Amino acid sequence: MIEGFTETAESLIAAAANFYQRGWVLGTSGNFSAVMSRAPLRLAITPSGADKGALRPEQILLIDEHLNVINQSAAKPSDESPLHVRVVQERGAGAVMHTHSIWSTMLSDVHFERHGLEIEGFEMLKGLAGVTTHEHREWLPILENSQDMARLAGEVAVTLTEHPNAHGFLLRKHGLYTWGKNLGEARRHVEILEFLLESIGRRS
Ligand SMILES: [Zn+2]
Repeated sequence: MIEGFTETAESLIAAAANFYQRGWVLGTSGNFSAVMSRAPLRLAITPSGADKGALRPEQILLIDEHLNVINQSAAKPSDESPLHVRVVQERGAGAVMHTHSIWSTMLSDVHFERHGLEIEGFEMLKGLAGVTTHEHREWLPILENSQDMARLAGEVAVTLTEHPNAHGFLLRKHGLYTWGKNLGEARRHVEILEFLLESIGRRS
């Protein structure tokens, strides 16, 4: 097994369980990944269809950039694995996290016609990497949802190129994607963006 995999699997499980308890990944939704190696790419990722509140270490998969499972596991990688791989490639991320919260689901529909959501003036913006003032203006792009993950991954790549400073994006009526240089930063970005989305949602 690749070095550090067990510790990474445990960190993914801890994040998933915490987010499950907060109602952000109910009903087996959401998925989480972390880069174990970049060349060749090796990604530890949660499996498809698993309860995120009760993951076990043996359920965490190790995949390559073509979504082949490298470790011994009967489980299937998340259907959304192509999006994780693409975010890692486009952003050089060390970890990618995807939640299905009520607020991200609702706001991704309400703001869809503008293809994004502006977040400005909140102190909590300073929890995003590189942001040093509440006066920061964050643009959270919104993409139409799809079950064609190969095509959607291509659209994600275009969106990330168009918005090089974005810390995440929304899929319409679906949920939030964010990432970080490591698992800790990605987890913080989920907490910050979910907080901001809930703040905006409750106010409107
Ligand atoms: Zn999803």
